[in-house]
Amino acid sequence: MTETRSTCPYCGVGCGVLIASEGGQITGVRGDPEHPANFGRLCTKGATLALTAAPPIARQTRLLQPLRRLQRQGPAQALGWDAALQWACDRIAHILHLHGPEAVGFYLSGQLLTEDYYVFNKLAKGLIGTPHLDSNSRLCMSSAVAGYKATLGADAPPACYDDVQHARCLFIAGSNTAYAHPILFRRIEDAKRAQPALKIIVVDPRRTDTAEIADLHLRIEPGTDVMLLHGMLHLMLREGWTDTRFIAAHTHGFEGLQTLVRDYPPQLVAQVCGISVDDLTLAARWFAGIEPGESRQPTLSLYCQGLNQSSSGTAKNTALINLHLATGQIGRPGAGPFSLTGQPNAMGGREVGALAHLLPGHRELANPTHRADIAALWGVPDLPQAPGKTAVEMFQAAADGEIKALWIACTNPAQSLPDQATVRRALQRAEFVVVQEAFATAATCDFADLLLPATTWGEKEGTVTNSERRISRVRAAVPPPRSTGSTDNGPRHDWAIAVDFAHRLEAVLRPGQATLFPYPHPESIWNEHRAATRGRDLDITGLSYAALELAPAQWPCPAGATSGTARLYADGIFPTADGRARFDAQPYQPVAEPRDARYPLALTTGRLRDQWHGMTRTGTLGRLFGHVPEPALELHPQDLARHGLQPGDLVHVASRRGSLIAPVQPSDALAPGQAFMAMHWGAEFLGGSGNSSGSGSNASPGSGVNGLTGAALCPRSKQPEFKHSAVRITKAALP
Ligand code: SF4
Repeated sequence: MTETRSTCPYCGVGCGVLIASEGGQITGVRGDPEHPANFGRLCTKGATLALTAAPPIARQTRLLQPLRRLQRQGPAQALGWDAALQWACDRIAHILHLHGPEAVGFYLSGQLLTEDYYVFNKLAKGLIGTPHLDSNSRLCMSSAVAGYKATLGADAPPACYDDVQHARCLFIAGSNTAYAHPILFRRIEDAKRAQPALKIIVVDPRRTDTAEIADLHLRIEPGTDVMLLHGMLHLMLREGWTDTRFIAAHTHGFEGLQTLVRDYPPQLVAQVCGISVDDLTLAARWFAGIEPGESRQPTLSLYCQGLNQSSSGTAKNTALINLHLATGQIGRPGAGPFSLTGQPNAMGGREVGALAHLLPGHRELANPTHRADIAALWGVPDLPQAPGKTAVEMFQAAADGEIKALWIACTNPAQSLPDQATVRRALQRAEFVVVQEAFATAATCDFADLLLPATTWGEKEGTVTNSERRISRVRAAVPPPRSTGSTDNGPRHDWAIAVDFAHRLEAVLRPGQATLFPYPHPESIWNEHRAATRGRDLDITGLSYAALELAPAQWPCPAGATSGTARLYADGIFPTADGRARFDAQPYQPVAEPRDARYPLALTTGRLRDQWHGMTRTGTLGRLFGHVPEPALELHPQDLARHGLQPGDLVHVASRRGSLIAPVQPSDALAPGQAFMAMHWGAEFLGGSGNSSGSGSNASPGSGVNGLTGAALCPRSKQPEFKHSAVRITKAALP
């Protein structure tokens, strides 16, 4: 038996794991006691990794050889890698010849490794010349990216996990940390036990397991976060709780924000948010860290999808960061605005520029200097000059016939994107759909013309970056499985698939020239990525694979540094032109689709404790259904009574975009008028139909809860509003 040090592939906590293997099979997984993210702990998902990776489950659900469909959703034929990738090259070269580079779009995943991401980004923006490359991180993190950039000057969470134990107030907003980031939540529980005086404020319309440990639960009306945060600042100003010295020395733009929040008096804020003035005042005082007779106490904010997945996601992020800047709660132990990444490598994708507006090293496509830097590094004459289409926009463009080819890697848009009717119309209408996947059970596989089997966790080498900017190695413990009957089969690494395809396309687009993709192994990609960060805010030129062998490290870590950087902005200097942070004054906007008489319930979606995303991995294990065994629409008991429903009764749940059938379950974690359904339930669990404005006929049978959600986007981050859809229910007749 051997043990291989690696990283958990699920959430953004980024726990270290030790993978036991024997005879080419994974036989066990335990927490790595030396990894600073978890010190040996694992949650239920991480602790069962070996079971989901072991045969026979893995073999039943894995894609093992390339498959081609000559008819959309028709029968699939197996073929070898050479034939598969040459066919992909021929089809995409033909589309490029007829329609130009912007007819091709790439849709990636926060579960790819940094090296995978890097190659795809170079393939799209450097070789093909399309800016349309985006990631499912757009669905979870883009408002945090835009919020940091607008205020602090760089997409960089300034705090770290250790700050949980230094804080005297934890302000947890829009995050069910207990389910979404369980091992970080263990630290919060430890901190509370160690310091009973620690104040925990939870802002969430639902009384989640996280809210159960709060000293103050602000159970606000859905979508009113900006109103709440501006109201807190109004009170801080009125009571003299702001840090005028910090504001004067380190920021710009406070006057404009001061003027704005005058219009957010406590009585109005309390009424709109559905909380008391006393609770609002207490939250403002605790956040400001004002205790009689003591110096200002540190406050750490932890926030996630409740702020991000909103049509005003960026405004919610900046309103919270404004509070930190106004009270000087940043750059010291226990203080700072700390956004939690949902996926294991959403951060790495941002570092390499794998979002539609980015280039490697936190550069932007719209910036001529940044384009010139990367064009020189890559050895290409130019790069696309404007941001490409973001996740939802890309599928809308495909549904409209504008994007002809979609290459989807390691993500499942036929379940996870909002407004499934449009997504499925896009997947039907695109001329060529490539799906690069490990698991045959992903719903998007049904729409692929070409299915390319990819290696997965336990078989891959590379790196990931967790929520606290810590880069860890991901290592292969076992070889990938192989299909029988041919030597030209078996899953390949994501980066290697992209490189092989790129070499073939180079022969068409730049014949006779040296390859842009000279990568024999992931380390060679990593070294090019490191070079792209030289002199940037995230400089990792000091982090070779050899350095990462010693320990995971937090960026920045430039060449010559003896360690990474735990906490940013300790010197009060921000990565802006003048070194000052900026306040961002944005007014409160209500949700994009308010409840009304026809759709009177506010549906929100979220995670379960023991499932991950579309359940391709966790859904294979019976024991992970012990906590929540089946899908349900949770409603307040009053709403059940109003509709004459008993627990377990089936209802049609309908939004303006589609409907599904689900059993109801009473929950007083919700307020009357609210509904909750977990994001994980897809095709195999829920029936449904879509109201596609296009073909409609095959819109979304079995598209799951995202048949209901809408495509309203934050105008700055382009992140969709998963956290609020107006729905109605009617009792379903028994068959
Ligand atoms: Fe994996 Fe996240 Fe659980 Fe850690 S907390 S074991 S990273 S799922």
